[in-house]
Amino acid sequence: MPGSLGHINSWLLDDEDGFVPVDTGMKIKDCSDEWKAIFAGELAGEQATRVICTHLHPDHIGLAGWLCKRFDIELWMTRGEWLTARMISADPRTEVPEAFVTLQRSCGWDQDALDDMTASGWGGFRKVVFEMPMNYRRLKDGDQLSLGKHQWRIVVGSGHSPEHACLVNDADGVMISGDQVLPRISSNVSVVLTEPEADPLGEWFDSIEKLLLLPNDLLICPAHGEPFYGLHARLISLREEHHRRLDAIEAALTDKPMRVVDSFHLLFNRVIEGRNRELATGEALAHFHRLEHMGRVTRTVEDGVFWYRRA
Ligand SMILES: [Zn+2]
Repeated sequence: MPGSLGHINSWLLDDEDGFVPVDTGMKIKDCSDEWKAIFAGELAGEQATRVICTHLHPDHIGLAGWLCKRFDIELWMTRGEWLTARMISADPRTEVPEAFVTLQRSCGWDQDALDDMTASGWGGFRKVVFEMPMNYRRLKDGDQLSLGKHQWRIVVGSGHSPEHACLVNDADGVMISGDQVLPRISSNVSVVLTEPEADPLGEWFDSIEKLLLLPNDLLICPAHGEPFYGLHARLISLREEHHRRLDAIEAALTDKPMRVVDSFHLLFNRVIEGRNRELATGEALAHFHRLEHMGRVTRTVEDGVFWYRRA
């Protein structure tokens, strides 16, 4: 993968007549070359029986359509992830929509930053995602999948993406966690254009409580980083990290009101610029929305810009 992550883990599950890739990598040459080498090497003569994607982000579904075509198999996803992926990939726009400019302006972006963003265009998703199949097989929370000798249970989380599927093998004590639980970095929890008033951080907290009901001794196989033990400690530390950020914003709101962009130094320990600005804005806005839902801040809109004050 390009960028600071550098890689994604695709997990291969054993099935009766072959194997099942879970998450695929982006539609970039590096990723498809890796797959081709594996298909000609370790998996020579083996057949994929289906493709499973934990969620819609391009590093997870980028080559799903390609794998489905290559092996003539079906794509399995939750409905929320599937529909969102199809919606984004069907958007033919190449220019940044006005609604997105409005949203970024409301978070406090200045004209230079807005011009920068509009100059870089729209439709990046389609560039790194192979054409999706026309139909899919639905995964639902609580579903049991029989793959070969193994049972995998679907556990849905939310906040990083709409309906993220984790796969839990209770008998063997293994969980494929996608981006819902990562060992070192904290997953991006962002407000996105399709639902600008959503409360993804609220959904993220709810999902942490739900995942805390899973056994603590599962081997967690994440999409980024190494497999690890210690699910509960990791979930609690992720929960605390977000609560610390919420507290930091509230504490900084003394008598002066604040815009979303004014909170970056409280939330991130790096300079925010370029493409990172969009991610940082979405993540910061998620924290302000959560504080607003909790009744800890109030928002006024002045000249199209959100200003937050302590409630
Ligand atoms: Zn993701």
